[in-house]
Amino acid sequence: MNTFEYAPAPESRAIVDIKPSYGLFVGGEFVDGHGRSFKTISPSTEEVLSEVAEADETDVDLAVKAARRAHSRVWGRMPGKERAKYLFRIARIIQERGRELAVLESIDNGKPIKETRDVDVPIAAAHFFYYAGWADKLKYSGHGTESLGVAGQVIPWNFPLLMLSWKIAPALACGNTVVLKPAETTPLTALLFAEICQQADLPPGVVNIITGAGDTGRTLVSHPDVDKVAFTGSTEVGRAIAKSVAGSDKRVTLELGGKAANIVFDDAPLDQAVEGIVNGIFFNQGHVCCAGSRLLVQESVADEVLGRLKRRMGTLRVGDPLDKNTDVGAINSAEQLAKIRRLSQIGEQEGAERWSAPCDLPDHGFWFPPTVFTGVTQAHRIAREEIFGPVLSVLTFRTPGEAVEKANNTPYGLSAGVWTEKGSRILKVANALRAGVVWANTFNKFDPTSPFGGYKESGYGREGGRHGLEAYLR
Ligand code: NAD
Repeated sequence: MNTFEYAPAPESRAIVDIKPSYGLFVGGEFVDGHGRSFKTISPSTEEVLSEVAEADETDVDLAVKAARRAHSRVWGRMPGKERAKYLFRIARIIQERGRELAVLESIDNGKPIKETRDVDVPIAAAHFFYYAGWADKLKYSGHGTESLGVAGQVIPWNFPLLMLSWKIAPALACGNTVVLKPAETTPLTALLFAEICQQADLPPGVVNIITGAGDTGRTLVSHPDVDKVAFTGSTEVGRAIAKSVAGSDKRVTLELGGKAANIVFDDAPLDQAVEGIVNGIFFNQGHVCCAGSRLLVQESVADEVLGRLKRRMGTLRVGDPLDKNTDVGAINSAEQLAKIRRLSQIGEQEGAERWSAPCDLPDHGFWFPPTVFTGVTQAHRIAREEIFGPVLSVLTFRTPGEAVEKANNTPYGLSAGVWTEKGSRILKVANALRAGVVWANTFNKFDPTSPFGGYKESGYGREGGRHGLEAYLR
């Protein structure tokens, strides 16, 4: 518990200019939609931030047409070294406007400013820098040099700007044009990115941003003139998309859910492991596809690790996302909060023991305290289903073989963590894990040069690195 008085250190929101309403970004300009509109709110205060257009079928069609025109007349014909200049320019503007993007993301998403400032925005810029470098070197990619055409891209709310950059940067570098739909609860940084495209003088129609919910996404991915579908989101929606494009010649990549094991062996440096466990599940309120939501700890050190973990959880600051000292921000929506509460209740009903860090939660907004469940078995729903919140399930193991078996006993296969001081054990365990990414003695490390993606129900295709070019080339 804190023994000193705490002085809040809120970041000013004066730098952002949130307009009362937003249209759609189509053909290089903001236009009115033909459909309805919806409100985007701040999850930490429930304040209405803006009214945003909901793209209907006509709007989706206009956006796809704008992207097609831009591809056939300009972008698809432009030499790679010219395209690279635009990508470099966008990367630099993201850096220059980094504070604005960070504050806006924290307000619209609820995540702490220290994360948007130090993780989301710098890595988004890094993706544009990295893929700018590839634009004139595609012949060395090993995946062809020809663009596919128009990419329809749909992203979730947990890393709105970062997921946008994972999608748009490689697509543009390869000569494709895009229509991107951000999630309905977090449209604002994508709309600010549209302004950045204008500022960078990107030719009209190369990037189109259409806002809306599931219906808009469904209309986009099933549009007959979309050549490539790139989706990040839940496994359930990913499955529906895979069905809807089956039989067409659209290319598809799906980045879906996860239920990662974070495996701690008894020879691990325990304080560092505890930091890694905290980072693994409480970073971004646990709204992370690769979150270390299942802690597998070796039985001989389980009590010690849990004692240290609870002490550390007691020091996490939960609250105002704009406060620079906040560790855990708001849950992104009332709907997501209800899902986290429901699964946590099921955990208790199934006999697992719940412990939540003692903390004062704000009166308004959507909040859930950092929580750990012990006495969890593999049959428990909290060990099998993605909770997508600050909730950790703890299981124990005795041998490395048992750890691997339990870690792989999941329908997902996105990521995993291994904590041990033996390099040979890291290699052996990592090779046996069915997970797209395995971190050793660290967690949640992202870099544009490193491919990311899943096995099994976590989807298919890779984003990032040279591998990330494959999805956008023939
Ligand atoms: P979601 O699937 O509900 O929504 C994702 C996006 O799809 C949103 O923009 C939504 O409007 C849109 N959508 C909804 N129904 C659609 C449909 N029928 N057709 C087309 N688009 C549709 O997921 P979410 O709740 O926003 O995001 C959380 C999920 O995303 C989690 O499962 C998480 O693991 C996953 N995720 C995965 C990765 C990864 O790289 N593997 C990264 C981030 C998040």
